[in-house]
Parts: sequence; structure tokens; C-alpha cells
Amino acid sequence: MRFHIMTLFPEIFNSYFGESIMKRAIEKGIIEVFVYNIRDFSANKHKKVDDYPFGGGAGMLMTPQPIYDTYKHIVDTHNIENPRVIYLTPKGKTLKQGIVKGFSKEEDIILLCGHYEGIDQRIIDLIVTDEISIGDYVLTGGELPALILVDAIARLIPGVLNQNESFEDESFENDLLEYPHYTRPREFMGLNVPDVLLSGNHQKIEAWRKEQAIEITKKRRKDLYKKYCKK
Ligand code: SAM
Repeated sequence: MRFHIMTLFPEIFNSYFGESIMKRAIEKGIIEVFVYNIRDFSANKHKKVDDYPFGGGAGMLMTPQPIYDTYKHIVDTHNIENPRVIYLTPKGKTLKQGIVKGFSKEEDIILLCGHYEGIDQRIIDLIVTDEISIGDYVLTGGELPALILVDAIARLIPGVLNQNESFEDESFENDLLEYPHYTRPREFMGLNVPDVLLSGNHQKIEAWRKEQAIEITKKRRKDLYKKYCKK
């Protein structure tokens, strides 16, 4: 799967994709990440990429031309038909695991990171297929949301996680939050690992984990619990 990230701050991405699971996935060739500096595509002789909003108001807006030309470059270079273009924005649909799963079926995903007060609406009208928010708060730019989205999608692609990092029991699978985990030592600061986990009885362990998952979901996420009960 190929991720194409359009940003004014490409260097932000180097460190994240150079570490841990994402680094391994790139090295194995399971995912490819291309980062494009929108400024490189500015037709302005000073490489300007922002301007004042018509009608007044605070802050600057990203202008449409450099973004459109970056997009054209991506689509033409990689021969992408019907591109899925995601604009990260607080006005978008709130990201949920179900949405992530949908995106994980694509071959190419183009992500657009906004900055300043946002971007000219015409770019959204022209090229964006999905508007995604990572939550009801406002960040300074779309780079962190893009990283979050790429990470969440990538880990669903077969081969990205090792077998022992499987996501099948994780939170939001089957509308449940995950059960609690314990590792060594067996006792820490007077707190013991639940006996059942040391019993070696896999059926009992499974049953205990399921029960815990249901309990924690019921307590913390009534919305998910209701969905789980309806199944
Ligand atoms: N003026 C915009 C508004 O009120 O909706 C906020 C612009 S924000 C300061 C700058 C950029 O950060 C946005 O264009 C978007 O790309 C990104 N951003 C900020 N918060 C976000 C969120 N919760 N989810 C996704 N992207 C976000």
C-alpha cells in the first residue's frame, strides 16, 4: 500500500517512519510512504503558499495552486485512478476503527495536511474525497493527524504486525475494549497477577478475558456496549 502525504513540513515525518513497526513495514516493502513538500510546487517566485482570507478574519489560508499541482504530480507519477484523497480537518468525520478498516483496502491513499487557518475551500471541492478529524479539538496542523491515520491503517495491513502483535483481540474489535494485560513480575508493589492467568488453562483464560472486556466496555463506553449487546 502506498501513502502519499502532502505537507508544508515534510521533515516531521522522517523520525516517525524511521522507527519501530513503521520502519520495519517500509523495509519489508509492505507499505511505501511518499512525502511531498507542497511549497516545492508553488508557482510563486518566492514559493509563497499562503494568503489572507477574502472577507477578512484572522490568520492565513493555504492557497489552492501549490496543493493542486502537488496532487497532479502524485496522481500522474503513480498512475493513480480514482484517487482517495483525505483532508485532515477538525470539520471532518471523526476517525473510528471502522473507517480505518475501510481505508486499509485501498492501494493508494493521498493525505492532505492543512496548516494556519486551513485551506481554500475550492481545493476540498476539487480533489478531496474524505474529510477526517481525529477528535474534537484543534491542532496547529494536519501532520499529527496524518501520522495517526497512516499508523492506524498500516497496522491492519497483513504482514505489518508480527503474529504476536496481532490486532484481533484489540479494543474496538467486536465493539469491545480490550481486557487488562499483565507481565512479569508476578507481584509488584503488593499487587498480584490474577491467578487465572497463571493457571495454564487456556479456556479459563479466554473466558476471563472476555468477561473483563465486557465489564470494562460496559463501565467506560456505554455506546460500544450497546452495540455489542445488539449483536
Ligand atoms: N480553522 C480551522 C477550523 O476551525 O476548523 C482549524 C485549522 S487548524 C489550526 C490547521 C490545520 O490543522 C487544519 O487545516 C487541519 O489540517 C489540522 N487539524 C487541526 N485539528 C485537527 C483535527 N482535530 N483533526 C484533523 N486535522 C486537524
